[in-house]
Amino acid sequence: MSDLLTADRIEEIGALGPDSPDPAALVAELVGAVDEGRVENPDDIGYALLVAADILEQAGDLDDALALATRAVAEQPDDNAYARAMRGGLLLRLGRSDEGMTELTALRPLLETDPAATYLTDELAESGHAELALEWLTGALDAILERTRTQQHESEDAQDEAAAMIYGLARQRHDLREEQGLPHDEYDNLADRLRDAASHALNGLDDGPATLLFWPMAEFDALLVRWPALVDSYPSTWDEHRAQIERALVDASGLGGADLGVVAGTVDGLAAFARDAGSDPTDEETLDEYADSLDEAGVTAWPPGRNDTCWCGSGIKYKKCCLPRSRA
Ligand SMILES: [Zn+2]
Ligand SMILES: [Zn+2]
Repeated sequence: MSDLLTADRIEEIGALGPDSPDPAALVAELVGAVDEGRVENPDDIGYALLVAADILEQAGDLDDALALATRAVAEQPDDNAYARAMRGGLLLRLGRSDEGMTELTALRPLLETDPAATYLTDELAESGHAELALEWLTGALDAILERTRTQQHESEDAQDEAAAMIYGLARQRHDLREEQGLPHDEYDNLADRLRDAASHALNGLDDGPATLLFWPMAEFDALLVRWPALVDSYPSTWDEHRAQIERALVDASGLGGADLGVVAGTVDGLAAFARDAGSDPTDEETLDEYADSLDEAGVTAWPPGRNDTCWCGSGIKYKKCCLPRSRA
């Protein structure tokens, strides 16, 4: 047990989670590695603690889950909104409503500034406060729409970011209202129109930065073995590769892209493409053209629903995979 704890292993544990025959052993493995300074990449310490907290939470051990979430907050003081939201949700589930609400309410302004911040309203909804979640989502939509109406001179970037937030907020609100059996209202219709427009834009893509080339785990390793020259173009690990893509997509959505997605490359596919085109497979232009050629075969739209399978192919829910990883 003195091995280094890798990001792969943390994720593997997250996938096994409470369904494993011995969840306590998994938690002990994670926390032990943190305690003994054996987390391979120190940036993953908060991630390891949140995975452990999640296992405990699902096993019903809310007190210990809270202790670990609180530790995760302290481990990443500069960027801990996600950990704080999880902590807030746990406090609510423990009946410590005032503290939980204080934690989440402090983060509430993020709903109007950060396209990824719908994890806040997710915590509310999952801790039995769906009505309040809907109130916050509606309030944020009202505020952003009002802002776009009254601020005529907003920069293009600010307008694009507002569009990305409107999309995310309206979609979550739509799905939550559907779960509650509520009929469509004006914002729900807007959510449906935006989704249709996004999928239409994705289908019509022919080039541009809206689709990113992604290498599934096995392909990523094979790629660098086959063309060592690509080592300079990619990070050294697959985890960093997908985290980089997730961050790029978050940035792009902040700049307004609602039509974002990933296409999965294969080594054989790239080799055949480069051979047919008579080009160098390690050339950046070749990689771009190869990515474009994949669009028709299938773009995985981004972001997936929080409870949908992650785009990276891990088989894990997005909210437990690339979403928290890239923000940890
Ligand atoms: Zn609908
Ligand atoms: Zn993922």
